[in-house]
Amino acid sequence: MSAYDQLMAYERVTQALGSVAGRTGWDQETMMPAGAAELRAEEMAALEEVLHARRTNAKLGDLLEAAEPPDDVARAQLRHIRRSYERATKVPATLATAIARHTSKGQGIWAAARAADDFASFVPVLSEMIRLKREEAACLAVGGDLYDALLDDYEPGITGAELQAMFDRMRPRLVDLRARILQAEAPAPLDHVFDEAGQLAVSTLLAQTFGYDLNIGRIDKAVHPFSSGSGTDVRITTRTSPRDPFNCFYSTVHEVGHACYEQGIDRAYVLTPLGAGVSMGVHESQSRIYENQLGRSRAFTVWLYGQMRDQFGDFGVADEDMFYRVVNRVGSGYIRTEADEVHYNLHVMLRFDLERQLIDGSLEVADLEEAWNARFEADFGTAVDKPSNGVLQDVHWSFGLFGYFPTYALGNVYAGCLYQSLREAVPALDAQLAQGDTAAATGWLRENLQQFGGLREPRDTIRHACGFAPSERPLLDYLDAKFGAIYGL
Ligand code: ZN
Repeated sequence: MSAYDQLMAYERVTQALGSVAGRTGWDQETMMPAGAAELRAEEMAALEEVLHARRTNAKLGDLLEAAEPPDDVARAQLRHIRRSYERATKVPATLATAIARHTSKGQGIWAAARAADDFASFVPVLSEMIRLKREEAACLAVGGDLYDALLDDYEPGITGAELQAMFDRMRPRLVDLRARILQAEAPAPLDHVFDEAGQLAVSTLLAQTFGYDLNIGRIDKAVHPFSSGSGTDVRITTRTSPRDPFNCFYSTVHEVGHACYEQGIDRAYVLTPLGAGVSMGVHESQSRIYENQLGRSRAFTVWLYGQMRDQFGDFGVADEDMFYRVVNRVGSGYIRTEADEVHYNLHVMLRFDLERQLIDGSLEVADLEEAWNARFEADFGTAVDKPSNGVLQDVHWSFGLFGYFPTYALGNVYAGCLYQSLREAVPALDAQLAQGDTAAATGWLRENLQQFGGLREPRDTIRHACGFAPSERPLLDYLDAKFGAIYGL
């Protein structure tokens, strides 16, 4: 067997074990009895130990050196295996263990601090987390930028400086748009109670309408919606809230976007490094275009309005026009995960700027809450009332996830680019969406992006699908046009 074939055979087993670990994580969030938590922690640790040993096995290094890729697909496979091997071997085992241990401790303390609205009690834990992540970044960066090294885990090939330049171009336009919208008259929010069975029925219908294949997927309830798995077993979760069915419907469509990306990847790539979404940003572009550009469009909400009337009867929204306005209601809340399309990226930029300063050492954790509140007031026009609505709202930093936040905004930017090309490619898009027919739209995304998995680098993946280099302009133009029309600006 050639070195390349040996490498791929070895990788196949590692991928299969990683897939089992992922499904065990899914089970923990959906099905696991509460009393099994301790046993589960040990099972997960055992799996992680086996996976870490496989990923750092010196044999991999030898095979990587000897392997001669027969074609472009093989070259891409090797690129992923090499990146993973180098990352795993650059960080000393003692440091990796210290980070893992501190992460599980940090989450508990973060949750308690958030419940008590007490940022001070989180400061020592977060300071230690940042010290550890800086140490990890120094191992990975070998003299380069620390933040870029962390960012590379989630969005290979982009730098903090590039993101900064893009966000600096976006921020003034978004701040201006939100200010103009908030001066205009807003539609009233929904005022009705929607039964859970009905919400789950519409939610399942939405998933199927967007092409989610339930033969190789399933939908369960969980506290936080997520999608999990690749290839022929990709599962999603959703949640319901009696007065806010849109929370259920649009988080379902969002996770369906992630799941359809994984289901849409060429089956020949299953259990290889190419068999998963290429980066967090590209992944988020799929969830966001399904959720927003398609799911919250004027055309598609015509269909959704009819489905909701069938399911719930009269729920107090007079017609399709009003329904579209209610679905796209803009409000300046504190919480990122509840933000509308206009505010969402401003939430991300705030976190990006602060975490970059934390990693480069120009901002101390002790000053973080004050910095957060000042920036929030500048961009959102209101003062943060308590830490659980501000600096303590997201779990990410307690997990040691630095460099993750910007991929959310990058996903929106990529979705804007894809939507521009999709509209040109499918002239009858609106007429189809108004009938609840997404086949041409999701088919275009599968054909031009999803099927390739990790074949190209993230930005090349978008460029290949769109036919132009990704830029923030299509997203900003889309937001201006959409919300300008809704709010009569
Ligand atoms: Zn997402």
